[in-house]
Amino acid sequence: AVGYYRVVKENRNLYNMVQDLKGNIRVYCRIRPSFSYEAKTVIDFVGDDGSLVILDPLKSQKEGRKVFQFNRVFGPAATQDEVFKDTQPLIRSVMDGYNVCIFAYGQTGSGKTHTMSGPSGGSMKDRGINYLALKDLFQLSNRRKDIINYDIHVQMVEIYNEQVRDLLTEDSSTTKLEIRSCTGDNGLSLPDATMHPVKSTTDVLNLMKLGEVNRVVSSTAINNSSSRSHSVLTVHVHGKDISGSTIHSCLHLVDLAGSERVDKSEVTGDRLKEAQYINKSLSCLGDVITALAQKSSHIPYRNSKLTLLLQDSLGGHAKTLMFAHVSPEEDSFGETVSTLKFAQRVSTIELGAARVNKESSEVMQLKEQIESLKKALTRKE
Ligand code: ADP
Ligand code: MG
Repeated sequence: AVGYYRVVKENRNLYNMVQDLKGNIRVYCRIRPSFSYEAKTVIDFVGDDGSLVILDPLKSQKEGRKVFQFNRVFGPAATQDEVFKDTQPLIRSVMDGYNVCIFAYGQTGSGKTHTMSGPSGGSMKDRGINYLALKDLFQLSNRRKDIINYDIHVQMVEIYNEQVRDLLTEDSSTTKLEIRSCTGDNGLSLPDATMHPVKSTTDVLNLMKLGEVNRVVSSTAINNSSSRSHSVLTVHVHGKDISGSTIHSCLHLVDLAGSERVDKSEVTGDRLKEAQYINKSLSCLGDVITALAQKSSHIPYRNSKLTLLLQDSLGGHAKTLMFAHVSPEEDSFGETVSTLKFAQRVSTIELGAARVNKESSEVMQLKEQIESLKKALTRKE
C-alpha cells in the first residue's frame, strides 16, 4: 500500500510539473457584444474548448472560414463573473509567491477597459478584474491569517509616448518616472511611483477613482483619449508566515493602448508619433515573448518602457495571461484578424516552468488545510 501511495504521489507531482510547464502563458479571447442589432457579426462559432471560427464577410461561407484555438474563448454573453472565475486561480497564485501578469490586448472599443476595470462612471455593477482580484486577495489573506500575514500595496502608472506617469498621486501631471530594471527580490522597478497600502475594497475603490480621474485629466490635456496609453496597476504582495519565512511577489494588471494600425497617410504630427510609439511597444511585447519562448540569450526588455516595467513578470518564471479582445462587427474584421493572429502567436509559445518566489503553493495549501482541520477540531471539543 505504501508503494501505491508513493506512486500516486509521484504522479501527482509530475502532473503538477507538467501543468506548470505548459501553463505559464495562457491566452483567452473575449468577444464583446454587438452594439447594433443590424450589424452583421463575423463570429461563426465559439467552442467550449477554446476554439473560435470567424467568417470573412467578403468571401463565401466555405472559403472565408478562419479557425483559431486559444485556452478559452468568452462569447458576447459571458459575464464579468464568468471571466473572473477562470482567471481566479492564476490571480491567487500571486499569494503563493508567483509573479503574475495579465494583459488586455485589442483594438480601441473592443472591451479591454471593460474587462480590466468595468464600465466607466464607477458603478458597482460589472466591476472588472482589477477590483475583483483585489477583493479576492483580501479574502484569501483573511482565510490564511493564522498561518501567514500578508501586506498588500498597489501602484498605478500610465505609459504614454514612452513616458511613465504616476496615476495615484494628487499631482500626477508633473513628474515623469524612471523605471529601474530590477533583479533582486525586493527591487522595485518603479521606486518613485507612490505606493499605497490597501486593506479593504473601500481603499481599492478610492484609489481606482483617483486613477480614473488622473487618466481622464491626462488624456484631455493631450487632447486625446486614454486609448492611446497603457495603464498598469501593480499589486505587491508581501507575506510572512509563522515560521518566519517570507514571500514577495507581484501582479501586474495591464490595460494596453489600442492595437489598431493607423493609416499612415492620414495621420501626421502628434497622432503619428503616438501611433509609432504604440506600435513599437506592442511589437516589443511580442518580441520579448517570442525571445523567451526561443530561450534566446538576449531578451529585448529594454526596447520599450512597457517590457522593461514588466520584466520580472514576463520572464520564464512568471505566469502570464493575455486577453485578446475583439469586436464582432464586420467593419472590424481586419483588426479582428490581426488581433487573433497576434494572440495565436503568443498562445503557441511555451515558457519555462513558473517558479515560486519562496514557498511552494502546495505547502501553502497543506498549511491552510491543517489550520482548518485544527479549527474544526476545536469546534468539536
Ligand atoms: P477599449 O477599452 O478596448 O477601448 P471599452 O472597454 O471601453 O473598449 O469598450 C467599449 C464599449 O463597449 C464601452 O462602452 C463598454 O462599456 C462596452 N463593452 C465592452 N465590452 C463589453 C461587454 N463584455 N459587455 C457589455 N459592454 C461592453
Ligand atoms: Mg480602454
